[in-house]
Amino acid sequence: MAGVVLENVCRRFGAHAAIENIDLTVGEGEFVALVGPSGCGKSTLLRMIAGLDWPDEGAIHIGGREVTGVAAAERNVAMVFQNYALYPHLSVRQNIATPLTMRQLTAWERLPLLWRGSAASRARRSQIDAEVHEVAQALGLGHVLDLKPGALSGGQRQRVALGRAIVRQPAAFLYDEPLSNLDAELRTTMRTEIADLHRRIGVASVYVTHDQVEAMTMADRIAVMRAGRILQFDSPAQLYAQPSCIEVARTIGTPCIGLLPAKVLAGDGGLSIGLHSVLPLHVGQSAGADVTVGFRAEHLQLATTDAAGTLPARVLNVEYLGADVLVHVAVATAQPGHSEARLVVRVAGIDCRGRTPVKGEWLGVGVDLGRALVFDADGQRIDAMPHDTALRQQVAHG
Ligand code: ATP
Repeated sequence: MAGVVLENVCRRFGAHAAIENIDLTVGEGEFVALVGPSGCGKSTLLRMIAGLDWPDEGAIHIGGREVTGVAAAERNVAMVFQNYALYPHLSVRQNIATPLTMRQLTAWERLPLLWRGSAASRARRSQIDAEVHEVAQALGLGHVLDLKPGALSGGQRQRVALGRAIVRQPAAFLYDEPLSNLDAELRTTMRTEIADLHRRIGVASVYVTHDQVEAMTMADRIAVMRAGRILQFDSPAQLYAQPSCIEVARTIGTPCIGLLPAKVLAGDGGLSIGLHSVLPLHVGQSAGADVTVGFRAEHLQLATTDAAGTLPARVLNVEYLGADVLVHVAVATAQPGHSEARLVVRVAGIDCRGRTPVKGEWLGVGVDLGRALVFDADGQRIDAMPHDTALRQQVAHG
């Protein structure tokens, strides 16, 4: 049974449709990230799953139970926020134990200094202690159980928040940008920790982030959102290699995909880029159609200006990253409104030892035609095939 299922969920604020007809299934034990720019509806969707907001239409199921009209407290989901929301006056042990003491002890039993309680209540309390201890050990918090949140590092506080969520044994984990308050190094560590933890406990998780790298490194599947809709819901590898549209191609991948506006030439003559540049690609569109050709940085190579089959390009900027060098170039285009287009070429650092390109220099850019991603005038990806492959196929079928 799927962990979280959304069916045709809609949410309007006045005339503004924040969420439009969203269907989404998060499998049991699956980790799904919602990614998209500010205002695309990620938080609204998460809040509706949590029961902190309500859909105008549609249904929400968690752990096989319909919860559309069920209050947040009754949904058995754990929400982890960026601000941790820890109780500053309670110790780590008490913070983690809170959901269990609230659920399992009466108001009197939560005041042990005033009342020792019955044997049954002491047994429940020691059971809670054991659970808290186990979770704290798993999170590397065993040595700070008696400290208050103020004495902890950002990463430790985040782990306490996670611990408090885990002890509830929820049917789903919901994360709202939980790492955005942490510095870059800690973010990277916590990414791995959360992903590892998730694999160990195997509960459906929905993770909201505007950071696509975070989503790519952590999630089993990513829903790329725009303006209240899901553009594509797929594995990170699939989104990168087979984006459904230009918006997804732009969202996923660092550095950003390079995009060249082009026109389909008559007689299957390929795609015209600049005055003298033609990409020999077959795209099955009529002559004169406008398309956009996308290249990832690792599918481009630097060459000399006179190298055959390369696009003439001017170096705009060179970013030295250690293992890699990113060379940003401008390619002249003949398309109205696009005098030049920008591409990024990834060069293995070691290849640049002899001669690193310099800003303003002209060079040739070779393209891996078999990896080109082509989009039609509406931004939807269309099939593209280098001419030689197309010809070979014709012969094979001929
Ligand atoms: P961010 O990354 O900035 O948090 P988001 O993708 O999470 O953005 P939401 O916060 O879900 O986006 O907002 C989606 C849209 O709904 C936005 O246009 C926002 O202005 C609108 N919106 C959200 N909550 C409300 C509200 N309570 N009242 C009116 N409009 C709202």
